[in-house]
Amino acid sequence: QSPLDVEALRADFPILEREVADGVPLVYFDNAATTQTPTRVVDAITEYYYEYNSNVHRGIHQLSQEASIAYEEAHDRIAEFVGASGEREEIVFTKNTTEAFNLVAYAWGLNELGEGDTVVLTEMEHHASLVTWQQIAKKTGATVEYVPITEDGTLDMNAAGDLIDDDTAMVSVVHASNVLGTVNPVSELADMAHEQDALIFVDGAQAVPNRPVDVEAIDADFYAFSGHKMAGPTGIGALYGKRHLLEAMDPYLYGGEMIKKVTYDDATWNDLPWKFEAGTPSISEGIAFAEAADYVDDVGLERINAHEEYVTAYAYDELSKLDGVEIYGPPKDERGGLVAFNVEGIHAHDLSSILNDYGVAVRAGDHCTQPLHDTLGVPASIRASFYLYNTREEVDTLIEGVEGAIDIFH
Ligand code: PMP
Repeated sequence: QSPLDVEALRADFPILEREVADGVPLVYFDNAATTQTPTRVVDAITEYYYEYNSNVHRGIHQLSQEASIAYEEAHDRIAEFVGASGEREEIVFTKNTTEAFNLVAYAWGLNELGEGDTVVLTEMEHHASLVTWQQIAKKTGATVEYVPITEDGTLDMNAAGDLIDDDTAMVSVVHASNVLGTVNPVSELADMAHEQDALIFVDGAQAVPNRPVDVEAIDADFYAFSGHKMAGPTGIGALYGKRHLLEAMDPYLYGGEMIKKVTYDDATWNDLPWKFEAGTPSISEGIAFAEAADYVDDVGLERINAHEEYVTAYAYDELSKLDGVEIYGPPKDERGGLVAFNVEGIHAHDLSSILNDYGVAVRAGDHCTQPLHDTLGVPASIRASFYLYNTREEVDTLIEGVEGAIDIFH
């Protein structure tokens, strides 16, 4: 049983009423890529542009003060949302999760990593983490190592114990996998990292939208996530960092807003978090990001999580009944709200295109995890990912589409 009144919640998302072709209603199962946006989040953006559009931090005029307060308070709200007691000083607004990785890789990694250091990742990292650390390692002489996954798509924690050693400077791990659905034991990994005096960066892009996250309970040193995957707008994300680490780090981007005092010879840096937010930031997006946090909190993250389990378990069971379907990752009761799979003899792109005829939006490809797909031994997969507004009836449409594809191809 789902704890959510999904019919009522769907009314918050006007886009869900649209058809993708005449008489073909939209079934939106691409939520791990981007979630839909409820009216009140769109309204927060509209209100900003209609009522107090203005640059932040600089002006003493009324509009600028209103914009500044709303933008700054949005940082406090996001801090509270993920349990950062250091409030706005520990929350840097970035464009997305990817930028948060680049920020830490450049501002911390470039200075702190060197030959003999290891950066321990996992085989299920998203390119946002994997490519970024790989390149910073090349620049600094550090080595990247990967914790392997087991048959059922969970981390091999014995191997993690061996790899995280006194050479390790950084452990960077995805909280919830965007392909396997695995939810990793991040707090155990944080303990393992800290025992070796290493830091841990947790990629929360797929975790924050659909479960309560407390960065301090995890003891993450850095934690990143994106607004557009949690009912918020694109163009905004957050990097949480422990205050003492952010204070010690150099800026990543230089320019206006991030400085305190500038002369022709040198400059000093603004307070946290503004030191890391050079230039005019994404103001309306930042304000709407906080509104999205309010929205998912009002629905209830525990309940969103339980609802996703309810829809995911059904999708898992129904897909498993079909011949030739291979699902990747852990069993249905141990995974986040998505199912990545392949159907024997049908390329993921062909299947996705047939599903589109049924109105079903899924993702086909490598989902920014090419090495993981190499490990799985497939070039691509189909991913159906669910959010608070999806129903089991919509899963029936997905199943109908997959059966339709099987009929065509076999
Ligand atoms: N990490 C994970 C696990 C993701 O699923 C994604 C988005 N697909 C990202 C990082 C990158 O997020 P963004 O594109 O918003 O930077």
